[in-house]
Amino acid sequence: MDFHAHLDLFDDPRALIAQIKAEGVYVLSVTTTPKAFPGTKNLALGCERIRTALGLHPQLAAEREDELTIFDRLIGETNYVGEIGLDGSNEFRSTLAQQRRVFLHILQTCEESGGRILSIHSRGAAREIIDLLKTSVHFSTPILHWFTGTKNEFVEAARAGFWFSIGPAMLRSQRLMDKAALIPRSKVLLESDGPFAKYNGRSLSPLDTSAAIPILSQIWNTSEDEVILQLKRNLSEIGSIARNRSQRRFSNERPRSKLAAP
Ligand code: MN
Repeated sequence: MDFHAHLDLFDDPRALIAQIKAEGVYVLSVTTTPKAFPGTKNLALGCERIRTALGLHPQLAAEREDELTIFDRLIGETNYVGEIGLDGSNEFRSTLAQQRRVFLHILQTCEESGGRILSIHSRGAAREIIDLLKTSVHFSTPILHWFTGTKNEFVEAARAGFWFSIGPAMLRSQRLMDKAALIPRSKVLLESDGPFAKYNGRSLSPLDTSAAIPILSQIWNTSEDEVILQLKRNLSEIGSIARNRSQRRFSNERPRSKLAAP
């Protein structure tokens, strides 16, 4: 699986998607602007294992705030939202006020729509992201993507019930592995963050996330088979959360189908 990939930003998305399909990889295809959602969703037509998320990346939030109207219009088309969040790193700190406005608007839209699965960027903003999610999210399910908080922040986010998507690039030192060990096994999903994330000098893709399996087997002190089983259970759990949300979303709008009646 790859629960955070930017399929539309690879050099040859169609060739990559053909490989993903051939290998049977489950992918959450995140987008960086609402305008990119329809085209990115189209790329995955006919691919049962690819879900497309509606997003507005915090690094683009300031210049694309006007696309929130598109975001609100498209929210009914997907159970998944991302990439969203805050970026407090030096380069983007100056736009934090706009980023906050955009992020809070999106969280609110998701709440009003019955909740979504959220793939969240928190670089340089771990503390604030945890606080905002705790106060503003009741129906949505946050997945912290490539979380780089302190050990205390890992523990706090885990206690709050948040999920984490992690990849080989996030596990490359003992210090990082010690942090990953603080995440409950039932809340771990794999991600590549390709094509941005690099590993051994090469862009990662959804075909590379399994490099994290031997590392998790070391962290959890269990066999690779057991790691794979756990990850499969987690994937099935997050899929079931997403489906239940969509049932709730439609329950007030449509009568249940006759087939579903007791
Ligand atoms: Mn990303």
